[in-house]
Amino acid sequence: MRSYWLRCIGCGREYPGSSRIYTCPACGDLLDVVYEHGDEVSRIPWLRGYGSRPLGVWRYRELLPVEDYGKVVSMGEGGTRLIRCRNLERELGVGEIYVKYEGDNPTGSFKDRGMTVGVTKAVEAGARTTICASTGNTSSSLAAYSARAGLECVVLVPAGKIALGKLSQAIIHGARVLAVRGSFDDCLRIVRILTRDKRFYLLNSINPFRLEGQKTAAYEIYEQLSGAVPDKLIIPVGNAGNIVAYWKGFGELRSLGLIDELPSFVGVQAAGAAPIYKAYVEGADGIKPIKDVETVATAIRIGNPVNWKRALKAIRETGGLAAAVSDAEILEAQRLLASREGIFAEPAGAAPIAFLIKASREGLVEGDERVVCIATGHGLKDPGIVVKTFEKPPEVDASPDSVLQALEISAKAV
Ligand SMILES: *Cc1c(COP(=O)(O)O)cnc(C)c1O
Ligand SMILES: [Zn+2]
Repeated sequence: MRSYWLRCIGCGREYPGSSRIYTCPACGDLLDVVYEHGDEVSRIPWLRGYGSRPLGVWRYRELLPVEDYGKVVSMGEGGTRLIRCRNLERELGVGEIYVKYEGDNPTGSFKDRGMTVGVTKAVEAGARTTICASTGNTSSSLAAYSARAGLECVVLVPAGKIALGKLSQAIIHGARVLAVRGSFDDCLRIVRILTRDKRFYLLNSINPFRLEGQKTAAYEIYEQLSGAVPDKLIIPVGNAGNIVAYWKGFGELRSLGLIDELPSFVGVQAAGAAPIYKAYVEGADGIKPIKDVETVATAIRIGNPVNWKRALKAIRETGGLAAAVSDAEILEAQRLLASREGIFAEPAGAAPIAFLIKASREGLVEGDERVVCIATGHGLKDPGIVVKTFEKPPEVDASPDSVLQALEISAKAV
């Protein structure tokens, strides 16, 4: 039988896995889930076909901290496509480019990987009401998984700063959505205070169980590349939980003896919300929170990322780097990915491609490198941004001639 517990990333104190705590009661730092694995880990069929255990989060159940696999709250999350992008390879002069398309998840973002584990833990803990602060996708995902589990769900979002697709999901799944006159960071501050009250179960990425689910994306990439490790892994960074989850996932593959080296981690922030990038450039030990953040990539519009410490560590220890990209670069990348490869990612999910375009121009990537970009969310989450930045389709009369005329093709040539 596998055992697991919680360990503080600051002072190292340990707590039972069933403790209803989100941060270290002694020093306030974040908690990590640690395991003592037994033989059961050998049941994971690494690189051996997907038949009885399809690619997805629960393929790796022996490496996840749940008490009873029969009781997991799941909709088949993970198992997302890793798409080779040959057109972009040619255009950017990069050896191999893959996009891990997390828009394939049940509610359209990688958040579902974390929520299937997190909401399962909420049920185990006997919680009745889940709560989160959200830039959008966390609320979509938590609302859906809470609905499935029969739990009430409360969501705090920054007023006017959440994409329409995401908001509509939270509403239709029955969450109680409150639009806070403030930033995401304000919402999270409030949620952290409210969850001192045991009536509310916190499901932001402070919750260590969320990252356990998210780490499975690293396992999938390893399997989808037939056991190879990418040279670079390029990830958008907001609250910085996801980059830490990938770091943990690849780190575990190394501990299990499946790989020798980790990819270099590239954390990409939006220029208008880039505290981790700033700390990286300055070689600082810590971040300086930014109060006034702004970017079209609302999913990463965060000025005070809770997971900054391990994010900087992941970047530094793997010989990677932190980068910042402008809104214009993000939108250009979103369009390029969609128009060259048929992949529609929301703006935050296109940030890695924005970095790649820039890096290839500046010679920061080699011609023979294999890179994996994480497209964290589906483009349909935020249709408003496309409609806003592109021209409206021209209206034409209902006749073949006026269609041809609008297409500027002469009628004779057809
Ligand atoms: C949540 C989210 C991010 C940021 O992930 P963090 O773990 O907060 O760094 C990036 N892109 C999308 C689409 C998201 O939903
Ligand atoms: Zn501690």
